Amino acid sequence: MTQVELADATGLSTATVSIIVNELAAAGIVTTTQVTRSGRRAFQVTLSRGLGLVAGIHFSTRALIVALSDPNGSIIAKQRLPLPADHRHDTDMDRAAQLIADMLESISAPPSELLGAGLGICAPYNPKTDMLSVPGLLRGWDEVHIAESMSRRLGKPVVVDNGANLAMLGESRHGIAKEAQSAVFVSIGHGIGAGILANGEILRGYDGTAGEIGHVRVLENGDLCHCGNRGCLEVMVNSTTIVNSLRNTVGNVTLRDVITMARQGDIGCSRVISDAAHYVGGALSALCNLVNPELIVIGGELADAGVALLAPLEAAIERNSLHNPLNPPRVQLSILGEDAAVYGAAAFAFDSISLPISSVMMEASA
Ligand SMILES: [Zn+2]
Repeated sequence: MTQVELADATGLSTATVSIIVNELAAAGIVTTTQVTRSGRRAFQVTLSRGLGLVAGIHFSTRALIVALSDPNGSIIAKQRLPLPADHRHDTDMDRAAQLIADMLESISAPPSELLGAGLGICAPYNPKTDMLSVPGLLRGWDEVHIAESMSRRLGKPVVVDNGANLAMLGESRHGIAKEAQSAVFVSIGHGIGAGILANGEILRGYDGTAGEIGHVRVLENGDLCHCGNRGCLEVMVNSTTIVNSLRNTVGNVTLRDVITMARQGDIGCSRVISDAAHYVGGALSALCNLVNPELIVIGGELADAGVALLAPLEAAIERNSLHNPLNPPRVQLSILGEDAAVYGAAAFAFDSISLPISSVMMEASA
C-alpha cells in the first residue's frame, strides 16, 4: 500500500503514518519506493526481504510444488516435480526439504533466512491432532503427524492445511478473488476439493473437513468411494472415469488429451467434460445455497478446458441453486493455476509464524 492508503486503512493521519514508516524503514523492516497513483507521486511501502523468507509446499495428487516467498507474497524461486499416483509421505517430505535447501542455495540465502513453511495436502487436515481429519483419504498418511514431520526435516516451524483451502487463500491474497469477501475455490481434476472463504476468512469447520465437496453424494447407489460411501462426486468426476468413458470411442487417452480435443471441438470429449460439469455444478449449487458466495473460482487440471467446462457448469448452478437474477455468483477460472496453493501456503505461513520484527527493532535501537 502507499502511505495514503495505509492512512485510510488504519484511520491514522498521514503525518503519523509517515513517522511510523520512517521508523520502520530505519529499522530495516519496510522499504519505500516512489510510485505514481492517479497521476500523483506516492510512497509505496512494502515489507523488507531482510525479514526473512517462507516456503510454500503443495503435495497435490500428482505433483509436488515448492516455492520460496518474500514477506510481500512474491514468489522468488519455484520448483515442480511430478509425483507417482500413490506417492508416500516420507519420500515426499524428504524431496520437499531437499528442494527448499537447493532453492535457498540458488538465491544465495543462508538457511537462517528461512522462517518456516506452509504445507498443503490433498485431504482434510485437523490442526488439533496434526493428522488427517478423516483416515483413509490419503494412502500412507494416516499415522503421520504432518506439521511435526515436516518441521523436523526443515528445523523450522510448519503449518499445514488442505490444498484447496490454501488455493482459496492464495486466490484471495494474490489472485482473482482479491476483492471478494465470500468465495469458493473448487479444484476439478485428478480429485475434487473445495476451499471456502467466508467473511474474508477460510472456513475450516470443527476438525478441518469443511468444503469436502468431493464426498457429497451425487448418485444414489453409485460406485464405492475410497472414503467408504457410495456415489460421491469424486467417484463420478475424476481423471480415471473421464478417460475411461472415452476408451470405446477415442481409445487410450490422457486427461490432457481429452482437454485438448474438447478445446478443438471434439463432440465426445466436450460431452464427458459437460457431464462432469453437470455433477460438479449440482453439488456446487447446494454449496451456493449454504454459503452464498459472490465468486466461484475454478482450478485443477480440468480448468484448462475453459468454456467447455465453464458454460455447462454455470448452467447447472443457475438451474439448481436459489435463483438471484440481479446478483448471480460469478464463475471464473483461477489465474494462479496450479501455483494457487503454494501462494496460499506461503501466506498462511507468514500469517502464522511471528516475524522476527522485535529483534530487528532492538538491533536498530541498539
Ligand atoms: Zn467419498
